[in-house]
Amino acid sequence: MTFAATVLTLYPEMFPGPLGVSLANRAREEGKWSLDTVQIRDFAIDKHRTVDDTPAGGGAGMVLRVDVLAAAVDHALSLHPDCPVIAMTPRGKPLDQARVRQLSAGPGVTVLCGRFEGFDERIFAARAIEEVSIGDIVLSGGEPAALMLLDACIRLLPGVMGAPSSGAEESFESGLLEYPHYTRPAEWEGRTIPEVLRSGDHAKIAAWRKHQAEVDTRSRRPDLWERHKGVRVQSASGARRENEDQGQ
Ligand code: SAM
Repeated sequence: MTFAATVLTLYPEMFPGPLGVSLANRAREEGKWSLDTVQIRDFAIDKHRTVDDTPAGGGAGMVLRVDVLAAAVDHALSLHPDCPVIAMTPRGKPLDQARVRQLSAGPGVTVLCGRFEGFDERIFAARAIEEVSIGDIVLSGGEPAALMLLDACIRLLPGVMGAPSSGAEESFESGLLEYPHYTRPAEWEGRTIPEVLRSGDHAKIAAWRKHQAEVDTRSRRPDLWERHKGVRVQSASGARRENEDQGQ
């Protein structure tokens, strides 16, 4: 199945951009995913092809018009009715690896890129659109955010990454950051690779990696660590309950 990516944007020339090189490009050439861009301006309704207007209530900047956005979204839905529509916005739910995994397992995604001050809010009441943020930063447009979202999905498509297990141990997959990596030279500027990684003892290496992943997550991302601990406590008490139910 081809993963269908459709991007609604005022700057279609920004695509495929970085997705036109390396793994993503090869995957597109192999038909693992497809890319369509839709020029939002094509859905303007006046002779000047206006897509924005001043904010109701006053204030700086311009706002994307709801009638133009709706026409563009409806067009994209007619192309790919089964694909979820995602609007890139700092007001959205932070994107995470779990959502990326779900999306990459589906038929594709339609991504709506904002510009200026963003979208007329009524579009979200009128159409089934998921609002997604790529982090607590403000970009000048949704295009770089869309490229990030698509890159994250595409690399998970079957056959895109080399080894089938490449994605399984990565950061966030188990709720932790990944352990640190090293490669040759074994010594560089007086710094050596941890001895255990050169021991050839796979059990010890796995234990070291698990420990490092936990230590690094705890110190770098206390938010992830707290969540991970919560999940572990929940699954341990679930298992205890199951054992008790079975009289063990
Ligand atoms: N006025 C908006 C606000 O403060 O929430 C910011 C608008 S921003 C300058 C223009 C567009 O960039 C947004 O409509 C959105 O599409 C995109 N954008 C900016 N930051 C983003 C983020 N963190 N995640 C996803 N998209 C973002």
